[in-house]
Amino acid sequence: MPRGFYVGRFQPLHEGHEALLREIARERDELVVGIGSADKSHSVDNPFTAGERHVMLTRTLETIDVDAYVVPLVDVDRNALWTSHVRSLCPPFDDVYSNNPLVTRLFEESGTDVHDLPMFNRQEYEGTGIRERMLSGDPWEDLVPDQVVDVIEEADGVGRLRDVAADDVAED
Ligand code: NAD
Repeated sequence: MPRGFYVGRFQPLHEGHEALLREIARERDELVVGIGSADKSHSVDNPFTAGERHVMLTRTLETIDVDAYVVPLVDVDRNALWTSHVRSLCPPFDDVYSNNPLVTRLFEESGTDVHDLPMFNRQEYEGTGIRERMLSGDPWEDLVPDQVVDVIEEADGVGRLRDVAADDVAED
């Protein structure tokens, strides 16, 4: 069976990501999961480190019937080189799963088949909205897997997000 590839920032990993991983696992025995923007952390858009996101993914993948290989991927300045960069770091893969238009475009231009997937409750399962809930004190825990709640609490993730957001405001 071909080995698939799926990439996300997972800031944080939420129920939409988990639903996608379960959907892909129905079609693939093996999957490479890229942690995109692995070089980014401690900002409002990217509060969690690659290591924290690695733990979110590995603990979630333990509940899904797929052999997954998780690879952190730092961003590169030139989009045209990104798919080569990804392939230089990952185990070989045959095709890609993505709902991200730029990711889809770059892989298709490089000759790799890309499968799109259904959107799962995009109104709520969306990283920006979840981070906004953390900042405003609204409940967010039901929007991410239980294992991810544990990782965020261990890292004082909400406290960190509020601190870096306050720093952003102070710079304005
Ligand atoms: P993300 O975590 O927002 O989403 C990951 C994937 O899940 C996407 O395909 C998204 O469409 C899908 N998804 C999210 N919520 C969903 C839902 N509720 N239902 C169904 N699907 C859902 O991550 P992202 O921003 O798409 O990750 C792409 C990564 O690739 C980024 O880190 C980006 O920097 C990286 N990238 C880098 C370069 C470069 O370095 N030049 C170029 C392209 C992409």
